[in-house]
Amino acid sequence: MADDTPISMDPELLPKPAATHTVSEDPFDGKEEWKHRPPYEIRSMKDFGEVKWRGSCQCGRVTYMLNRDKPLAAKFCHCRGCQVMHGAPFQWAAIFHKEDMMFKNGSQGLSFYASGEKSRDYQTPTKVSCSFCRTPIMDEGRRVVLIFPELIDFGHTDEEQRERRRVFEVNCHIFYSKRIIEIPDGKPKWSGLDNESELLNDAGHKL
Ligand SMILES: [Zn+2]
Ligand SMILES: [Zn+2]
Repeated sequence: MADDTPISMDPELLPKPAATHTVSEDPFDGKEEWKHRPPYEIRSMKDFGEVKWRGSCQCGRVTYMLNRDKPLAAKFCHCRGCQVMHGAPFQWAAIFHKEDMMFKNGSQGLSFYASGEKSRDYQTPTKVSCSFCRTPIMDEGRRVVLIFPELIDFGHTDEEQRERRRVFEVNCHIFYSKRIIEIPDGKPKWSGLDNESELLNDAGHKL
């Protein structure tokens, strides 16, 4: 919009025509509709089903449940964005459907950050953290969530922990060309995005 537009003509400041309300078929009128969809929608435990995994942030204000045995896939991401935003050499992310997840308090207590836009307004993709202790909880994409398995209660015995490591074991590494440390685990290592970049060996050389 041109700078010389009279302020009274700014569409943001004009009252919205009433007709937009009567024709809307969206029960939430498009406003914060995402709060009424998984993973933020609070469903009954009967609708949600058996809880397979629980996760919680450091301060305990944010907790979530997963009703799926294992992730669709899991990855270590070595990209610069993950290094900076996690304060860690790489990110560990496990992919679930949005329906597989439910936050106990819905969207309450969560903060959002869209790193592409550098915006804290909710939009996808976004990074989700606890508003209080700032623990990173997940990256929400348009269709899936990438949760950080460090938050999941994996039990206390060696056997329980072995089992959880097996369930959340990564399929591959991505952005391995940006790695801070080398991980000689024999898993596929992509220089950038998986299936869209070159495969590297454990030492980072092209295969
Ligand atoms: Zn917290
Ligand atoms: Zn990354």
